[in-house]
Amino acid sequence: MFRIGLALLVILATAAVAALVPSLQIAAILLGGGAAIAIASVGTSATTRAPPLSTEPSPDTIETALIEAIVEPILLVVDGRVRRSNAAARNLLGVHIAGEDVRLAIRHPAAASPLSVTGVDGATELIGLGGRDQRIQMQVATLAPGRRIVHLIDRTTNYAAERARVDFVANSSHELRTPLAAIIGFIETLDDANTGADPELRARFLSVMMKEARRMQRLIDDLISLSRIEAEKYSLPVTPIDLSALVREVTSEVRDGAGSARGAFELDLEHDALPVAGDRSQLSQVIHNLVGNALKYGRVGEPITITVRSEGATLIRASVTDRGEGIAAEHIPRLTERFYRVDASRSRAMGGTGLGLAIVKHIVERHRGRLEITSTVGTGTTVSVLLPTMIQPAVTEMSLE
Ligand code: ADP
Repeated sequence: MFRIGLALLVILATAAVAALVPSLQIAAILLGGGAAIAIASVGTSATTRAPPLSTEPSPDTIETALIEAIVEPILLVVDGRVRRSNAAARNLLGVHIAGEDVRLAIRHPAAASPLSVTGVDGATELIGLGGRDQRIQMQVATLAPGRRIVHLIDRTTNYAAERARVDFVANSSHELRTPLAAIIGFIETLDDANTGADPELRARFLSVMMKEARRMQRLIDDLISLSRIEAEKYSLPVTPIDLSALVREVTSEVRDGAGSARGAFELDLEHDALPVAGDRSQLSQVIHNLVGNALKYGRVGEPITITVRSEGATLIRASVTDRGEGIAAEHIPRLTERFYRVDASRSRAMGGTGLGLAIVKHIVERHRGRLEITSTVGTGTTVSVLLPTMIQPAVTEMSLE
């Protein structure tokens, strides 16, 4: 009877600790382990009459196995000393932590107080533990008097993602505020009776205002595109798209829009290339952005070459090559970051938003493709997208004979 009561107590205590622990995996393991220890203790009651099977694990073995099974670093602390640790904890803190005072094992100023014997359970952020830029959340929970579990959760990636989000909001606001400030300034000047009355000045100011308003519009369009593409990130496009035909369509649109005044297009398109599984409007946006960049950063009067070619049986490569000034190697890995520009004033003067290649990257990722940028300073740049072909399921005919 006492054993069954103890078993229930162990299950309840473990469930309570599991409720305190944020990770689902650990909660499940603690619950499972609690039940296992409880069953083991009930089993022990039976052993007064029948000897235990030699294969039955002891509560100690179960405890060690439980802790080892957890992927994130975890320590079991008894009376302020490390009683058990898993491989992840030893990797992070060193193998010497066994039996050590937990405050020495987790050598961090912010950890000392919550880890002291009188410390309070809860979460503490440890910046720089395990690496200068690393952010670890230390979660402490009491299992029983003198017995605590310390869980170290790596939040570095979450923190980096959060920082990127904050930077993105700040950059977007800044990019929108600049043309807006110019528009407001010109409206105030036109409102002035003397300046506003001069028709020549008025026409000039209105044209600048229109340019700035269009810049805001392009930026807002690109921001909306980015958020739409991100929302659809996990849905695989399924429409068969003929990339050669799409390139022909986009280049003729650009020609009609007088966009090719800076350079002519040379098309080298494979006619019977397999279709790709795509989202038509997104792939059209990819080609528009790459052709747009070749026009903006290519040399005036030099042709822009666009090729579509099969690459093996499963990939199609679409490339846009310009004969512009090229890009220095150190910039290439950063070109797909939002608002990253090699020469910000040139990009702005050419009507760039700094989001074109970020949009291309997201669309290519959604299509499970790859983006490649190669460039030689003084010679030019080639930007290629590699997209998987639409695999037609093989038709297997079954003979009924
Ligand atoms: P932007 O709107 O500024 O063109 P993108 O995201 O399309 O933004 O490109 C980011 C930056 O990469 C550009 O500002 C430019 O510095 C550089 N870049 C992109 N394409 C080319 C190219 N074909 N030749 C030279 N530089 C390029």
